[in-house]
Amino acid sequence: MKTLVIASHNNATLSPVTLAAVSAALKIGASFDIFVAGKGCAAVAEEAAKVDGVSAVLVADHDALAYQGAENLAATLQANAEGYSHIVAPATSVMKDALPRLAALLGVGQISDITGVNGEAEFVRPIYAGNAIATVTSSDAVKVITVRTSAFDAAPTGAGTGAITAVDNAVDCGLSRVVSEEIAQSERPELASASIVVSGGRGVGSEENFALIEKLADRLNAALGASRAAVDAGFIGNDHQVGQTGKIVAPDLYVAVGISGAIQHLAGMQGSKVIVAINKDPDAPIYEVADYGLVGDLHDLVPELEAKLASV
Ligand code: FAD
Repeated sequence: MKTLVIASHNNATLSPVTLAAVSAALKIGASFDIFVAGKGCAAVAEEAAKVDGVSAVLVADHDALAYQGAENLAATLQANAEGYSHIVAPATSVMKDALPRLAALLGVGQISDITGVNGEAEFVRPIYAGNAIATVTSSDAVKVITVRTSAFDAAPTGAGTGAITAVDNAVDCGLSRVVSEEIAQSERPELASASIVVSGGRGVGSEENFALIEKLADRLNAALGASRAAVDAGFIGNDHQVGQTGKIVAPDLYVAVGISGAIQHLAGMQGSKVIVAINKDPDAPIYEVADYGLVGDLHDLVPELEAKLASV
């Protein structure tokens, strides 16, 4: 048995979600290598080599992998899959696109978004938007797995001495090309890995009113989240959406403001350690998962809370 963990990165630094995938690999129990696919990603490979316990770091550094497009990434992984019993990646949007393609190329099933490992062939994963938990057993020769990163702690890093090996079999399928990219700039922490998240919902009322939520987020050094209703109403960009069709978060503190608590929203945040809800409806379903609730008008409560935090 041997596991290949696929690194998530931006060609400059290793994303911390990779370390959650390594934790899942450690629970599987086999020795593991890390695969870095990118362009100009030598610094990422060096970081990956320091992950505790890693045997080897395979690096495919090629123009065709600069943006980790799904077709090229899947084909490149297929070319390097031999000898691995498990291929594991964090369930990022890139990997959720690439890994099912890899599974199809290898002729095996895809095991998505696992939250637990019971053994080398048995995994736990949420279904029905997190309303039921399935235990799945795979008899495939190679298990292709994406990992819900909020369900695993980061594996230790710093003491690893993995050997870095370049691979020269990157595949360019020629099926797609990147025309341009716009990267959202923010001084705030990244939503998926922030320790505090402040989210606004439809109850916030308008794009202008979202400034209240931003001010509270800044006061707490928190990432900014939103419900899908707030995104659909144009209050904030869709990269802030939390939930079944948005990002899955599990911060130490999640503050939900003007959010009713629909199951699709809960699916993205109910793993948070402490949940605070601010809602004028005392019967809102969000209070069923909240540890603390402030019932009242958010236009009064959020500035009051923000002012109190400013004075401590
Ligand atoms: P609402 O349900 O309208 O709730 C607004 C809340 O604000 C209410 O509880 C109200 O009491 C409160 N409020 C109003 N005014 C004030 C005030 N002045 N002060 C205090 N409180 C106030 N949703 C997601 O969030 N994420 C997803 O990923 C997602 N994926 C989906 C996928 C599918 C397939 C489907 C069908 C739906 C999905 N949804 C998702 C939508 C989801 O079902 C809900 O419609 C949505 O979460 C509701 O957002 P909301 O709570 O902001 O709005």
